[in-house]
Amino acid sequence: SFSFSAGKAKGLQIPGIKDIIAVASGKGGVGKSTTAVNLAVALANRCQLAVGLLDADVYGPSIPTMMKLHGKPETTQDLKMIPKENYGVKCMSMGLLVEKDAPIVWRGPMVMNALEKMARGVEWGELDVLVVDMPPGTGDAQLTISQRLQLSGAIIVSTPQDIALLDARRGAHMFSKVDVPILGIIENMSCFRCPHCSKPSFIFGKGGARRTAVELSLEYLGDIPIEVGIRTCCDEGVPMVISSPESASAKGYTDVAQKV
Ligand code: ADP
Repeated sequence: SFSFSAGKAKGLQIPGIKDIIAVASGKGGVGKSTTAVNLAVALANRCQLAVGLLDADVYGPSIPTMMKLHGKPETTQDLKMIPKENYGVKCMSMGLLVEKDAPIVWRGPMVMNALEKMARGVEWGELDVLVVDMPPGTGDAQLTISQRLQLSGAIIVSTPQDIALLDARRGAHMFSKVDVPILGIIENMSCFRCPHCSKPSFIFGKGGARRTAVELSLEYLGDIPIEVGIRTCCDEGVPMVISSPESASAKGYTDVAQKV
């Protein structure tokens, strides 16, 4: 039924795309993009789904580096952009459309226009799922994206640190305001296992995301350790799920992909 309440206003569905899942975080630097990339690759390669990845983090697009993509997208005759594909995932990112190192200094409405083009002006084809790497934070931009893209659900990434969890709670409230179901919380950088003595260190605290999930009655999707490999893989553009499928983190990402 149609609602005039601004908070519930919804955008149009994107034809051909069954589900759109956002990967969100309350604050930056917690591993949201890393999670989005590995989740998308796991959904495509482990769950055999047709997957797209939209980098909505327009101010700091990191998907081109993490997915080893370069060059401007080609366009179809009806001027739709053709997504760049790697590891079985079709990707679109502002990082492919602007010069490298060019600062992106846009105001809110321009960002939303650009995002609309990146979501709807793209020849995605038939997708089972489009994973959206959200901009960090829980402000107006995130609210607008959630509404306009008609998200099927959202995954919240947090470290076990109190301050990140506080922001994750805000994220959870934001999604519930716009009726987007939260698929669960994933804890990133949960534990560091020393490569020399293999003892675990809980650098950012222990079990915080699980406690927060229980407190908010959300599903706990699992944890990803801090590994040097995750960082080097991001920098080299080969996700862990591809480069080290037997690693603890790749298994963690695959578990999450199977749960959602
Ligand atoms: P966000 O999208 O939340 O800003 P990123 O995914 O860009 O965060 O990650 C920030 C940095 O942390 C990147 O350099 C990435 O390689 C690194 N990183 C993310 N998760 C892990 C992890 N589990 N172990 C090691 N490094 C990580």
